Amino acid sequence: MAKIPINMQSGEIEKKEIIIGIDLGTTNSLVAYIDNGIPAIVKDNNSQNTLVPSVILFGEEDQIVVGDLAKSQIILRPERTIYSVKRLMGKSYNDVENYEKLLSYDIIDQENELVKVKVGNRFYNPIELSSEILKYLKTRIEKHLGESVSKAVITVPAYFNDSQRQATRDAGKLAGLDVLRILNEPTAASLAYGFGTKEDKKETIAVYDLGGGTFDISILKLDHGVFDVLSTDGDTFLGGDDVDRAIIDHWIKEKGIDLSRLEEDKSLGQALRLRAEQAKKALSAQNEYRSDDGEYALSHEIFHALVQPIIQRTIDKCQSALNEAELKTEDIDKIILVGGSTRMPLVKKTVSDFFGQKAYDDINPDEVVAIGAAVQADILSGNTTGYLLLDVTPLSLGIETMGGLMDTIIPRNSKVPASVGRSYTTSVDGQKNLKVSVYQGERELVENNRKLGEFILKDIPPMPAGIPKIEVRFILDADGILRVRAKEERSGKETEVVIKSQYGISEEEMGKMLLDSLKHADADMKKKALLESINEAQSILRAGEKFVIQNKEILSEEEIEKLNQHILSLSSAIESKDRNQIESEMKSLNDYSTPLAERAMDHNIKKALSGKKLA
Ligand code: AMP
Repeated sequence: MAKIPINMQSGEIEKKEIIIGIDLGTTNSLVAYIDNGIPAIVKDNNSQNTLVPSVILFGEEDQIVVGDLAKSQIILRPERTIYSVKRLMGKSYNDVENYEKLLSYDIIDQENELVKVKVGNRFYNPIELSSEILKYLKTRIEKHLGESVSKAVITVPAYFNDSQRQATRDAGKLAGLDVLRILNEPTAASLAYGFGTKEDKKETIAVYDLGGGTFDISILKLDHGVFDVLSTDGDTFLGGDDVDRAIIDHWIKEKGIDLSRLEEDKSLGQALRLRAEQAKKALSAQNEYRSDDGEYALSHEIFHALVQPIIQRTIDKCQSALNEAELKTEDIDKIILVGGSTRMPLVKKTVSDFFGQKAYDDINPDEVVAIGAAVQADILSGNTTGYLLLDVTPLSLGIETMGGLMDTIIPRNSKVPASVGRSYTTSVDGQKNLKVSVYQGERELVENNRKLGEFILKDIPPMPAGIPKIEVRFILDADGILRVRAKEERSGKETEVVIKSQYGISEEEMGKMLLDSLKHADADMKKKALLESINEAQSILRAGEKFVIQNKEILSEEEIEKLNQHILSLSSAIESKDRNQIESEMKSLNDYSTPLAERAMDHNIKKALSGKKLA
C-alpha cells in the first residue's frame, strides 16, 4: 500500500507559513504581517498601541520587562532600564565612548569585544538586549495569530555596516527567529507604498527617514517593477533624540541647572528627557508648550531656532546623496517621509521646499517600515510575485595594502549581490604567508576605517617577490554578508572566510552566551590569535635572517646591524608571548626591510642581466 503523507490525509490545502516583518527601531519597534493581502500591525491587547518602546527593564529579581511598562520605569530605575540599544549594536567600547555620558545606565569596556551593558552584577551585550525586544514582538504576534512563528524579515538603517547587520541577525537568532532577510529601511518604505510594482513606470524616489536615533536618505530608482538603490547617505547619530537634547540644553541654560547635579541625579536627567520629548510633540500641533506644573515652557520661535541646525544637517546629507547619484532635486519624482520625527511640521516643510514638491506622508511614518518588512516577508513566503529587489552596499569594502592604505575592492553604492576579484603579489622574496585585512569605509588610510576581520593565506610556495599571483575575491550576498577568498593562482593554495564582523558573535559563542559563560571562549580566541601571530612572526624571522646572509654585499654595515637588531627584538617579542609586542616588532622589521628588499631585488636583476646580450 502506498504511503500517504500525513498532512495530506485530511485533504486540506496546505496553508502557507506566515513570515513576519519587524522594524527594530532605536526608540520603538513594531511587528507586522500581511493578512490576506492587507498589511496588519499587531497591537498591544491592553493599550491598543502598535509601537513597542525599545526599552528593557531588568527587575530586582532579574525578571525582564519590555515595552511600555519598561519605559514607564525609566525615571524610577534609570540604572536598570535600558534604551537606545540599537545605537550600541555591533559597536566596540571605543565607538560609543563619547555617547556613554548621555546614557543613564553603565556600559563596560572589554577589549576587542562588543560593548556590554552593566545591570546590577550582570553584563548584557546589545545582541542579547535586542533579542529581548525581538522575543517580546514574537510573543505578541504569536498571541495574536494563535500560532507560533519562526521566520522573519528585520529592517536596519541603510547606513548600518556589516557588524551592525550581523549583530541584528544574531539577535534574531537568539530570539528563536530564522532571519530570512535583513532589509534596508528605506527600501521597505517604498515597498509599503507599493511604488513601481504595478505599472511599467520609471521613477526616482527619495526616502527621507528621520527617526529617534538615526537619519537615512536613500535615492531609489524604480524601473519596470525593479527597485534599484542609486545612493544612500545618513548619520547613525542624528534624530529626534538630538532635538530632545537641544531642548534639554536650552532648559539647563535657562534655569541655570548645575551640571554636576545632573551627573549625580540620573532621575532628574530622565525627567528632563521625557519633558523635552513631550514639548517637542506638543509643538508639532500647537504654538506653545507649558508643562503641567508650569515649570517648563517652550515657544514656537525658540523651538524652531533649536531644531533648524539639526534639520539643516539632514538636508546637507540629502545633497550628498543626490551628488553621489549624480542627480539634481528636479530629477526626483517622489519623496517619502519615514520616522516619527518627520511629524514635525518644520521637517515636512524644509524637506518639501528642498526637493520642490510635497513629500508623501499618507502612511503613518512610524509604521511604514514595518509594513514594508511585512510586504517583503510576504514576497518571500511566495504570496506576492513580480518584485525584484536590488540593493547597494552603503560603505566601500577593501583590504589593507602596503603602507596601511585602503585598497577598495567593492566601492560604496555598488549593487549587491556582487563578486569582485583583484590580483596582488608578495613584497618579500620567499614570502610564505599573506595577511589579508578586510576593512569597510571611505578613508584612504585603513586606520581610519573599520576593520571587519583578517585572515592569512598560508603556505604560498617560496618564490621571488612579485612572482606569486594572488587573487583576492570579495563576494557580497544580498544581505550584505561578505565572504573573502584569497587564492595563489600558480600553486592553487586557497583560503576562504566569511567575514564575521569583528564584534559579531560566532555560532559557537552564541551557544555559550545562552549558558552565560563566554569567559572560556574568550580565552581560547585570544590564544588562537596569539598562536597565529607567533607563526607569522617565526616565518618573518627566518626570512629576515636569510635576507641578511644572502645580501651581505649590497647592505652597509649599519644596515646589517639595524636589521639584526630588529630580528633580535622580534625574537624576544616571540618569547614574551605578548601579541601586541609581536605584531609591533613584526611591523618594525617589515617597515625597515621593505626598501632594502626592493634595492636587493634591483641589484639581483641587474646582476642576472649583466653579461647577457640583449637583442
Ligand atoms: P522612530 O525611531 O521612527 O520610532 O521615531 C521616534 C522619534 O519620533 C522620537 O524621537 C519621537 O520623539 C519622535 N516623534 C514621535 N511623534 C512625534 C511628533 N508628533 N512630533 C515630533 N516628534 C515626534
